[in-house]
Amino acid sequence: MSEKRKQVLVFRELPADQLARLQDAHDVTVANPRLPEQKAAFEAALPRAQGLIGASYPIDEAVLQRAGRLEAVSSMSVGVDNYSLAALRSRGIVLCHTPGVLTETTADTLFALIMATSRRIVELANLVCEGHWTDHIGEDLFGWDVHGKTLGVLGFGRIGQALARRAALGFGMPVLYHSRRPVDVPDLAGHVHYTARDELLERADIVAIVLPLTDETRGLMGSREFALMKPGAIFVNGARGAIVQEPALLDALDVGTLRAAGLDVFATEPLPLDSPLRTHPRVTCLPHIGSATHETRQAMAEMATSNLLLALAGEQPLAVYPLG
Ligand code: NAP
Repeated sequence: MSEKRKQVLVFRELPADQLARLQDAHDVTVANPRLPEQKAAFEAALPRAQGLIGASYPIDEAVLQRAGRLEAVSSMSVGVDNYSLAALRSRGIVLCHTPGVLTETTADTLFALIMATSRRIVELANLVCEGHWTDHIGEDLFGWDVHGKTLGVLGFGRIGQALARRAALGFGMPVLYHSRRPVDVPDLAGHVHYTARDELLERADIVAIVLPLTDETRGLMGSREFALMKPGAIFVNGARGAIVQEPALLDALDVGTLRAAGLDVFATEPLPLDSPLRTHPRVTCLPHIGSATHETRQAMAEMATSNLLLALAGEQPLAVYPLG
């Protein structure tokens, strides 16, 4: 066995071609701790693992304490909220992620939620499916135009800008955005306007969340924020569920004046069966599919695999998350 071969633990399924790339270079264990039957294998592999690759599982202090030989973690995601950044930093472990390759697909998903909620797509498709299309539909089932409405984008990074591009250039929508500082995006100049967060909430017809989940953004959308939104506005979250206080969202729909909500992400995933959001008539729920297309999931797996191979070889990965 070559001295350069290292121990890699794959904690979420990889496409076969990417797994083969890892196996060519290293000794690989595949164990997904989310599956009860594989949890013990994951735990057993941790103490010898030098590289971790996967997604959707918390790599926290407790996990890292058991992974004393770890050199690099490669996440198949752009968001890094599942990782204890301080614990990685203090141990000198490199964290890689997959920005960029999922931007357009995730923006498509957000726009699909905007269309679905405004035009009541799921509700009306179900009406046909269930045999209730017996006459011309009446005003009570009319939707709400998307084109020309004002979109407010909270978080104006890669995905926020891609969403704004669709809205401004494709649907003639004025776009307001908020992030911690204004951003210069030449092809959107004149189409998007930086505003304070409260002003964005007050002025937008449709508010979309595309923020990372951090200590600053956790629970950011609460009763106060929903109350600021325009009567009849729509709310869409394609970022992370914990950015939204779900009871406050339900109040805004049932007691307040929110028209509808489109959600790809939830505080608890998969969405618990008893969540009132699941069956709410004015909420469209998706099972966290922001980046879930064949092409994009393959691109994410390829990038994450390259990141880990480079990091374990002591070379510069394609995208290292700055741990400060
Ligand atoms: P990004 O390029 O880093 O953009 C994040 C934006 O949020 C930046 O404009 C950033 O600007 C802003 N921001 C950060 N903290 C903020 C704060 N406290 N207040 C206001 N603005 C803040 O990231 P991205 O690639 O667009 O991805 C965004 C997030 O989408 C990811 O972190 C991930 O959680 C989520 N996501 C979800 C899915 C899905 O499947 N649904 C798929 C991909 C990504 P400043 O730092 O200048 O404020």
